[in-house]
Amino acid sequence: MSKKVELSSRLLVVSGPSGVGKGTLLKRVFLESGLPLVMSVSATTRLPRPNEKDGIHYRFMTNEQFQSKKNAGEFLECFEVFGKGTWYGTLRSDVENGLADGNFVVLEIDVKGANEIKKQFPKAITIFVKPPDNETLKERLQGRGTETDEAMKNRLKTAIEELNHANEFQFCIVNDDLDNAVKQFIGIINNSTENF
Ligand code: ADP
Ligand code: 5GP
Repeated sequence: MSKKVELSSRLLVVSGPSGVGKGTLLKRVFLESGLPLVMSVSATTRLPRPNEKDGIHYRFMTNEQFQSKKNAGEFLECFEVFGKGTWYGTLRSDVENGLADGNFVVLEIDVKGANEIKKQFPKAITIFVKPPDNETLKERLQGRGTETDEAMKNRLKTAIEELNHANEFQFCIVNDDLDNAVKQFIGIINNSTENF
């Protein structure tokens, strides 16, 4: 098996609609799994939320900075996630360094990004997080209080599209009861990685 294919089984790709609870779930998984997990810190052109720190939650950059990295081939994948205008991308260096250090690297990215990663890393573990129902998703997104009305509309529209792609992922977790979802998530990683 080539080194790249072998390493790709230590990549965890997590997708699911905005507001479904991916960040909340991953925070618990990182604390409780006991595995050497590291997050890939994506680059984005969206503005930071009040609680977000550059280099921790995202690498926040201008459109010019982002396009320059894109043109230099520094992204493994990058897309405008909610229609035109706001870019998100996974930095090649983040993933390569994380894997080279012997970690499991977690990518929290959208469905288009996940498909691109699967092409390049065919053994990546892919997990889709679903809401119990659409109304709960809307309430969570509203409850988080981070989006304008326009952004909410955009995110809900994208959410419906993303949910249609859930079956393209190896695993699906319904994030209803958080404890239960955390347990399922850790179970999936342990089962998929028991040979390491
Ligand atoms: P995402 O990272 O997918 O955009 P977040 O992790 O920011 O979503 O979660 C969105 C909101 O939903 C947050 O306010 C979070 O506290 C809440 N939330 C997440 N998981 C659950 C759950 N299982 N039950 C109830 N609320 C949840
Ligand atoms: P948010 O703006 O709420 O932080 O993230 C919005 C969406 O962008 C989420 O669905 C998340 O999965 C996706 N996203 C975050 N980083 C990346 C990335 O590097 N690449 C891609 N393709 N999507 C990303």
